[in-house]
Amino acid sequence: MSGGRCALCGGASLRRARAGLEICPDCGLGAVYPLADPGELRALYTRDYYEAWGPDGGEDPAVREMKQATFRARLRRLGPLPAGARVLDVGCATGHFLDLVAAAGGEPHGVEVSPYAAEVASGRHPGRVRCGTLEEAGYPADHFHAVFLSDVIEHVPQPAALLAEVWRIVAPGGRVVVATPDLGSAGARLLGRRWFHRKGEHIVYFSRRSLRWALGHAGFGGIRLRRGSKTVTLAYLASHFRTYPLFPVTPVLRLLDRCLPCRLLRRRFRLPTGEIVAHAHKPHSGAIPG
Ligand SMILES: [Zn+2]
Repeated sequence: MSGGRCALCGGASLRRARAGLEICPDCGLGAVYPLADPGELRALYTRDYYEAWGPDGGEDPAVREMKQATFRARLRRLGPLPAGARVLDVGCATGHFLDLVAAAGGEPHGVEVSPYAAEVASGRHPGRVRCGTLEEAGYPADHFHAVFLSDVIEHVPQPAALLAEVWRIVAPGGRVVVATPDLGSAGARLLGRRWFHRKGEHIVYFSRRSLRWALGHAGFGGIRLRRGSKTVTLAYLASHFRTYPLFPVTPVLRLLDRCLPCRLLRRRFRLPTGEIVAHAHKPHSGAIPG
């Protein structure tokens, strides 16, 4: 036991549980305690970090198209964007999602802690990308039509503070979309510490219960959760599992990577990834919009 308090609700009765995590019985959050230092975490996101995405730090056109296929499906669920709608991607990395917002007629904004990734994104969307944490970015209140957090909240040691800031900057009636690994997924249950989402840079782990708790506690309404999936290629998976080895997945993918023709390695397909995708909205004062 850490003797510490839950990173989400502040509860003091943490229990050692699966995947080597401590779970809070009050809100359901799993986390690695003591919580990592934000400064040390930030130092991880160099150019090398993005090499796991494949050649050229994920700037390879095939990787870009693959990542954008996942994001396109998430963006479509918002429905048509009003012209010029401001959409923020928290943890925008090199800006693949921002491209889609612009193409859909919205006004893309991104915030990213990695100076390398923020510079790449900024090159494609000048003046629209801030380097730092969301809190440091200091956006105006009630400012965004929608805020996306794709594969980012699990990297943050203070998720409640992050969601409070998201709530502040979303306009009344605006939306938040959160995608994050699911601690209740079959992969987490079966693989324990070897779960493929269990990584050094992942600090907090949500289940459906804890994500619903976190969004509700931050003030969001109309919370809907569904299972996440991603568009991937065998080439991408081989690269990913080279960086994050998992037996026997890594050697099998290495073999396929050597033997299969390029067109098969680059063929895109949907893969359930053991994640949760949550949609919620900031209520108009006094009423929850439909
Ligand atoms: Zn808790």
